[in-house]
Amino acid sequence: VLHNRLVELKGNIRVHCRIRPLLPFDEESEDPASQNSSVPAEVVHAVDDETVLVKCDRAAHPPINNTYSFERVYGPAESQQAVFGDVCPLLTSLSDGYNVCIMAYGQTGCGKSYTMLGPQSPGEPVPPWEPHSDLGVLPRAAGELFRLISENPSRSLKVDVSIVEVYNNNIFDLLAKDGRTAASGPKREVLTAQEAKQEVCLLTREPVHSAAEFMALAAGSLQLRAELATSVHANSSRSHLIITATLTTAPARGSPGAHHPPAAEQQANGPRPEGSRRRASGGRAWPGALGAQRPAEQVHAKLQLVDLAGSECVGVSGVTGSALRETSFINRSLAALEDVLGALAERRGHVPYRNSKLTHFLQDVLGGDAKLLVILCVSPCRKHVAETLRCLGFGARAR
Ligand code: ADP
Repeated sequence: VLHNRLVELKGNIRVHCRIRPLLPFDEESEDPASQNSSVPAEVVHAVDDETVLVKCDRAAHPPINNTYSFERVYGPAESQQAVFGDVCPLLTSLSDGYNVCIMAYGQTGCGKSYTMLGPQSPGEPVPPWEPHSDLGVLPRAAGELFRLISENPSRSLKVDVSIVEVYNNNIFDLLAKDGRTAASGPKREVLTAQEAKQEVCLLTREPVHSAAEFMALAAGSLQLRAELATSVHANSSRSHLIITATLTTAPARGSPGAHHPPAAEQQANGPRPEGSRRRASGGRAWPGALGAQRPAEQVHAKLQLVDLAGSECVGVSGVTGSALRETSFINRSLAALEDVLGALAERRGHVPYRNSKLTHFLQDVLGGDAKLLVILCVSPCRKHVAETLRCLGFGARAR
């Protein structure tokens, strides 16, 4: 088991913060009123690997000098590998039967997609997946998942994947193979059915047998998402992307129940079709695989990787029509997420999952003994300081 860090027992929600480096586009649009406009001011610092300092004397009344603590803080020079080092134990937890969620939260342009997927060239929706040092969480997690599966062939674990986009409180199935084009994107909205008085989504779930198959599927979905971004909404940073991998124990070969589902088999899935089935109680340790391992002969567990829509609050004045509608849906879904995380952090009895499609869809991986890692992505620049403070406040409330 790979562990970069030993971690204390801190419950099932952890919040990490990643400060991205200064980038060329920061310089170009730096506040012209600043004394030296070509050198953007860095006001967000990693004091140590658990503390962020936001220190800003100008452009803020009164001056800001705030520190925030998280389970882990990555400074601008920290690598994708360092981030994945802290994510990796969660894959072991998944294979032990825990539901796991890793989500990136933050303002557009602060590194959510870079962290979750990897670097993307402008106009290229799909980062290159070949092994290289900048790979994001998704390809590394896919690799680790199949490494764990191959280590233990006797467990006959199988993986199927669904990929959705949540936009304006609608869920779009990015794997649906129904012959529609991106131009008919809105029709991809997930069908829902009443099952046992619960609303469930009928999602496409594709079996995958290797990390390469997983990434090929993801690449197709991201391509479609980019096409939808031009036909349906202005920019993919205005929607939430959720990649779900469900890990289950396959029936033993030759047993009466053994079968391989056809590609794109329509199955009932979230928002809340089922809880994860776990075979043992206790063991709230994070990472779950340290020391006592669960008996995991039977596994049915979900991994959800979430690249959230940009958290910036577009100034509502001056925004009208569809842009206003879009912004208000993003704000509402992120506020609903904040409410859910706040209720879980305070161990309140009622957790308001049903206030948005986003939280409803993620219900199985938020709460219970599911393990949630929120990676806050922030800019180091002074001009982004208001959004950075909001983002850090969100993270602080979730702990
Ligand atoms: P978001 O998804 O939050 O809108 P992106 O992930 O697209 O932001 O990041 C915006 C730009 O910054 C991209 O060009 C990305 O490659 C770059 N970037 C973000 N984080 C880092 C980082 N830690 N190191 C290097 N480049 C980064």
